[in-house]
Amino acid sequence: MGLDALLNLKPFHQGSIMNTRDNKLSRRTFVGSMAGIGAGMSIAREAAAEAKYDAGSPVFEHTTPGIIDIHTHFSSDMDSKAHLEATKTSDKTVVFGGTDNDAVKAQVDLAPDRLIFFTRIYPDKKGFMDELERTHQDLGAKGIKLGPVYCQVHPLEYRHRQIYAYAEKHNLPILTHMAETPSRSGPLEYARPIHMDSAAMDYPDLKIILAHMGHPWIGETISIVRRQPNVYADISALYYRPFQFYSAIRLAIEYSDRPTVQKLFFGSDYMGGSTGRFIPQVAVDGVRNMNHIVGEAGFPKIPEEIINNILHNDSLSILGIS
Ligand SMILES: [Zn+2]
Repeated sequence: MGLDALLNLKPFHQGSIMNTRDNKLSRRTFVGSMAGIGAGMSIAREAAAEAKYDAGSPVFEHTTPGIIDIHTHFSSDMDSKAHLEATKTSDKTVVFGGTDNDAVKAQVDLAPDRLIFFTRIYPDKKGFMDELERTHQDLGAKGIKLGPVYCQVHPLEYRHRQIYAYAEKHNLPILTHMAETPSRSGPLEYARPIHMDSAAMDYPDLKIILAHMGHPWIGETISIVRRQPNVYADISALYYRPFQFYSAIRLAIEYSDRPTVQKLFFGSDYMGGSTGRFIPQVAVDGVRNMNHIVGEAGFPKIPEEIINNILHNDSLSILGIS
């Protein structure tokens, strides 16, 4: 980062939640870089290097006072009341299901002010494009959930491409499971985030969210999110592998551009998997406490402002969902 960048810090966004410690850090950074000018370039470089974590920290352009959970599951065999209760942790919650899109839509209709319906589409099923049109045009789906590894359909195969083309045309974001799974339903190759880099090249206006930051291919995910303007990632279900979670966010910071970290969305993966874990409140606490793994090791902490910004990122407005 050059001095120009250091001296042209954008003001903190009004809507973001910053504590005073973070603001102090930024002022110290600014003073440090000014001292560098007076004392010679080597000191300036040192100041810039030290400042990198602070001055380079993202000041998100789109934050909200509340929390948006971009990744939760519901299906007809789940407890509707428990789902309604647990999702109160967040101000807005995106909900998708399995093959029973109507059940998800009915659940969302119980709290339409805070629940948002994404349709789940299985390109291995007959009539999947009809189901996409029906759930979008008749049921008002705001986005699409995909899971190529579960459907045994390659993410760049023509059936997925039909979905991408429709989604791009109708401005429907897709949230796709690009991450490992213990399920042997399909080749793990189909879960590699790198394929969505090619998809982003072919469908440049398609908004893509890579679920779970593409673990274990987190570096791959970060490099795609960094270079593709319309590709994002959610951090759902990462907090309970605390070292991986910490290092994932650390890595995103080290790639350092503001856009990379500010394109990470909060998600809980509530009711995901077979164990019914990922309770939204536990997920929020997991994000807030992501530095607990640092302990006595002396690793750099994740700055509080980044934690706050991830938790309060306004993913819905970024994705154009009203
Ligand atoms: Zn999930």
